[in-house]
Amino acid sequence: MANEGVMNAWLYGTDCKSDLSKPARPLHIVLLGAPGIGKGTQAEYLSKKYGAVQLSTGDVFRAAKNTPEESLSPAMREAMVAMKAGKLVSDDTVINLVRERKNCLSSGYGFLLDGFPRTVHQAEALKEILVDLNIKLDAVLNYVLDTEEVVKRLSGRRTCKQCKGTAHIIFNPPKVEGVCDKCGGELFQREDDQPDAIRVRLKTYEESTAPLADYYEKEGLLLTITADGTPDEVFHKTEALLKQRLGL
Ligand code: AMP
Repeated sequence: MANEGVMNAWLYGTDCKSDLSKPARPLHIVLLGAPGIGKGTQAEYLSKKYGAVQLSTGDVFRAAKNTPEESLSPAMREAMVAMKAGKLVSDDTVINLVRERKNCLSSGYGFLLDGFPRTVHQAEALKEILVDLNIKLDAVLNYVLDTEEVVKRLSGRRTCKQCKGTAHIIFNPPKVEGVCDKCGGELFQREDDQPDAIRVRLKTYEESTAPLADYYEKEGLLLTITADGTPDEVFHKTEALLKQRLGL
């Protein structure tokens, strides 16, 4: 994968290095949308097409779950508890985590921020970080869909233990049950994709994250996309909007 170096640095907080060729026009994009709406899938498509690296704060927390408990900082330990319950991790913890990884934002590949920011406070912190790095956001892609449809998507989602790719038991079933089509890894249901956690996550999204759409609308960056249809169809809509707005 072209930007594996940046991805690893993002996940594990290591040095951000990669000497592979960089896109002529690095994209700096934030993805908004309720959990399960398909942001991660769109980020994968966008990454393939434009070379920008998908940076997901949720992936960082999930990676930290494999760290022995005694090596976790108190803030990270608290974050693990919040994540398991489907609640938001505190703004301070998430903002510090992104600050510690700011080199990944300025890697030269561009970025697709997935799951950050999630509150207006986090959006303001991101703005400051980007000013320091002399980077301007190109666009904020805001995916929207009926809540019922989102619940269906989330509760059927299965994630690969190995490559983190996703499948859906109804909409995108794997060729062999329980096995990832891409890498042969084991598919599992994320703890926070269980029904009780889903309800909490969607409510939290409405309360904390939906107001971000207004915030970015005022900044003149918001592009809203209805996320119905297949991932390909949603990607065509996304591409069309980016073309119109950024001339890509
Ligand atoms: P995600 O994969 O983006 O749905 O994130 C999974 C979980 O990680 C969330 O339910 C939160 O507990 C936590 N998390 C990820 N990103 C953030 C964020 N920006 N702010 C607060 N909590 C977050």
